[in-house]
Amino acid sequence: VLEQAAKEMTNCNGSGMSVMEMSHRSKAYDAIIKEAEADLRELMNIPDNYKVLFVQGGGSTQFAMVPLNLMNKNKKANYIQTGQWAKKAYAEAKRYGDVKVIASSEDTTYTYIPKVNKEDIDPEADYVYVTLNNTIYGTHYTADKLPDTGDIPLVGDMSSNILAEEIDVTKFGLIFAGAQKNLGPAGVTVVIIREDLLGNAMDFTPTMLDYKVHADNDSLYNTPPTYAIYIMGLVFQWVKKQGGVAAMQKLNEQKAKILYDFLDQSELFRGTVVPEDRSLMNVPFVLPTDELNKQFIKEAEANGMVNLKGHRTVGGMRASIYNAMPIEGVEKLVAFMKEFEARNK
Ligand code: PMP
Repeated sequence: VLEQAAKEMTNCNGSGMSVMEMSHRSKAYDAIIKEAEADLRELMNIPDNYKVLFVQGGGSTQFAMVPLNLMNKNKKANYIQTGQWAKKAYAEAKRYGDVKVIASSEDTTYTYIPKVNKEDIDPEADYVYVTLNNTIYGTHYTADKLPDTGDIPLVGDMSSNILAEEIDVTKFGLIFAGAQKNLGPAGVTVVIIREDLLGNAMDFTPTMLDYKVHADNDSLYNTPPTYAIYIMGLVFQWVKKQGGVAAMQKLNEQKAKILYDFLDQSELFRGTVVPEDRSLMNVPFVLPTDELNKQFIKEAEANGMVNLKGHRTVGGMRASIYNAMPIEGVEKLVAFMKEFEARNK
């Protein structure tokens, strides 16, 4: 994708222009944004009664847009707290209504996905909120763990696992994802929203934070992040070429298995997440001492493996193996871990 974008940098599709120079209302750009939407619909099997929106502000702006638009009947919402991002989403929603955490794994620093039963859900909740992949802690929802919310819309943050594993869009009222992990450059955020949830935003909702405004204007109410959407469109084409989301998932499972299998038999390294909830994207692990953690990160860096430092609340290491990471990258990391273990046992 980067090589194609480089080639098209000054002349995209024979237009004689960079995408950055195009008017967002031009024919040339219209083709780009329309194709991006069509490709995402195909990749995720998004039904016609859902709108696909490309907005700005990252995942964090969605923490506010979700309650502003969806907490509109009883001013109540239920959140499942599986990490920092879920906690931030909850704190933001609390500013607008009666918001409850109905399950949390904070007791173990988020090493598992808590089970939620139907009776845990407030029947008056306007929506139930989950984070499908917990980027910092390395847990993810499998289909069987998703709460059964009946008629209450389920909202899912897929910022760190969109297009990495198959999900059934119809189980959700709304899905959102910042682009920067699996989709493209930061600056564009994808929102997939069921049409019946549009049009009931709180009165004081800023125009730009009203999903309906973006839906009614095909994501062109104002100037969208045009270049980010263009790159994201190229990524969609790339994922299609890999065989779609099912093929990406298979590859991601292979990649993750290499790491988890090694961690499970290692006498020195230890994975921090319960096996049944392990993420395919983010693999946190620790060594017995902080000193060894530091030494590992330093030596890995010297060997060309960067960004392995874990989040400050977990410590240790975290290997983020998003869609763009080839299997060879994971093999190289595990080979290095083996060698490190042999030297430091
Ligand atoms: N949700 C999840 C799951 C994330 O991983 C992140 C960012 N890492 C966010 C939300 C926040 O996204 P942004 O930085 O785009 O606001």
